[in-house]
Amino acid sequence: MIQGAAEAGRRVCVFCGSSAQVAPAYLEAAHAMGRAIARRGLTLVYGGGGTGMMRAVADGVLESGGAVIGVLTEQFDTPAVRHPNLSERHVVATMHQRKALMSDLSGAFVALPGGLGTLEELFEVLCWAQLRIHQRPIGLLNLNGFYDPLLAALQRARDEGFIFDEHQQLLQTAGDPETLLDRLASYRPPDGLERWLDGLTAQPRP
Ligand code: AMP
Repeated sequence: MIQGAAEAGRRVCVFCGSSAQVAPAYLEAAHAMGRAIARRGLTLVYGGGGTGMMRAVADGVLESGGAVIGVLTEQFDTPAVRHPNLSERHVVATMHQRKALMSDLSGAFVALPGGLGTLEELFEVLCWAQLRIHQRPIGLLNLNGFYDPLLAALQRARDEGFIFDEHQQLLQTAGDPETLLDRLASYRPPDGLERWLDGLTAQPRP
């Protein structure tokens, strides 16, 4: 860890799409999430990008007087890719180092709609929660049902015994930024997380 838990607790890490080829409603939702983060006195930690929803969430924070920490790899640390007004910038060598630093800096995680990068980042923090590597809240902004198919896939995995109830509870969902941040603020880690390891040898459930 590079700083105390109290500092990290005032920072929220956001994963979201970098594509600029998305409907304005997505960009507006990212901007609204940024405004909501700043209104609560939280600092944004994110990938430092200057395009798509990444740009919009950072702009929302900055325009509301908040601070934005960008964590980039050397590859992304160019004027064309990075956001021009980052309050703080960290540059690392590899994508693995980047995700580790974003995690170390943050007290909670939020995924907005996004593509492969967003999904990969979301599922890593979920897996780490399942393994109790961390116990921090994780939220999914299910804007206009964007993530309904993903949530259905997770429910199918739950129904088939691949995921336990307590692990489903690791993911908080809401359709708007304020409700999602409220859920993260009141989050308590579920009991019984050790069952994932027990479950490897358990008998099939009825
Ligand atoms: P995607 O959902 O595939 O657009 O990927 C977005 C996620 O991957 C973000 O949360 C970032 O952490 C990372 N990422 C993708 N593109 C960039 C970029 N140009 N600059 C910084 N991070 C990026």
